Amino acid sequence: MGKIYKTLIYDNQISLSIIEATDICNKAIQFHKTTPLATATLGRTMIASLFMASTLKNKGDRLSVTVAGDGVGGKVIVSCDSNLKVRGYIENPNAMLPLNDKGKLDVAGCVGKGRITIVRNMGMKEPYTGSSQIVSGELAEDFSYYYALSEQQPTAMALGVKVQNDICIGAGGVVIQTMPFCSEKAIADAENLIKNFQDISEKIRTLGAKGIIETYFNKYSFNEYDAKYECICSDDYITSMLIAIGKTELLNIIDEVGKIEIKCEYCDKVYTYDKQAVDKLFGE
Ligand SMILES: [Zn+2]
Repeated sequence: MGKIYKTLIYDNQISLSIIEATDICNKAIQFHKTTPLATATLGRTMIASLFMASTLKNKGDRLSVTVAGDGVGGKVIVSCDSNLKVRGYIENPNAMLPLNDKGKLDVAGCVGKGRITIVRNMGMKEPYTGSSQIVSGELAEDFSYYYALSEQQPTAMALGVKVQNDICIGAGGVVIQTMPFCSEKAIADAENLIKNFQDISEKIRTLGAKGIIETYFNKYSFNEYDAKYECICSDDYITSMLIAIGKTELLNIIDEVGKIEIKCEYCDKVYTYDKQAVDKLFGE
C-alpha cells in the first residue's frame, strides 16, 4: 500500500505532501519486468502523478501524465484518479545506461529531452491539458517547472526510487507548494527544507513516510490517504473498444491471424477473442 500524508506548515503558508510509493513501484516491476533504470523513471513519474491526483477536487476526476522524451526509456505514461489508484508503463522497460557522474541511476538519460503533458478530466466536456518542456530529465525539476509555467504555482519537489536486486527498497517524494499570500521568509524556509530530502528514497527506506514525519514534522498533524497500483481495464472496456473498431475489421484480423489478442499496457493482462466471441459482441 502506498501513502500520501498532507499538511500545512509555516503558519499555513506552505502545503507539504509526503508520498511513500515503494509497494507501488514493486507492483510496476512485477507487471512490466522493468530494469532498475526504467523502474526509477516510471516510479518518479508515478510519485509526481500521485501528488497531482491528490490535489484533484472531485471524486471521479482523473489525470494522465505523458513524459515524452527522446531518451532510451521512450515515453512514460501514467494515469491516476482521485482515489489515488495509479497505473503506468514505460515504452522501453529494458532501458539501461551506465550510472551518472553521481553514481546514481541516469534517469535524465532515460528521459531525454522533450515535453511533459498532463491531461486532467474533471467531469467537464473538455479535459484540461497543460504542457511544458523537459528541462532536466531528472523529473522533480521538470514537474516543478510544469507547475511554475502551466499553473503559476511555485512548487518544489524531491522524488526518488531506490532499487536493489530488482526489488524497490525505497520510493517516495516530498512536495511543497506555496499558498496564496505566502511570505518571502516562508518561501526561503521551504526552499531550505526541501534540501533535506534530496536522498528521499533512502529516507523512505530507513524511516518510511511515518518516520520522516516523526523526525522532521512532529508538531504538525497530517491527513493520511491510501494509494495503490491498480489497473482499471476490464472486459467491458475492451469490448466497447472492439465494438468501436467494427465487426468487418475484427473478422478480417481473425481471418488473418486466427484470433484477436489485446494486451493491456498497464497490467499486461491479455484479452483474447475468437470468431465466436466477436459474433457474440455484435449480438449474434
Ligand atoms: Zn490493465
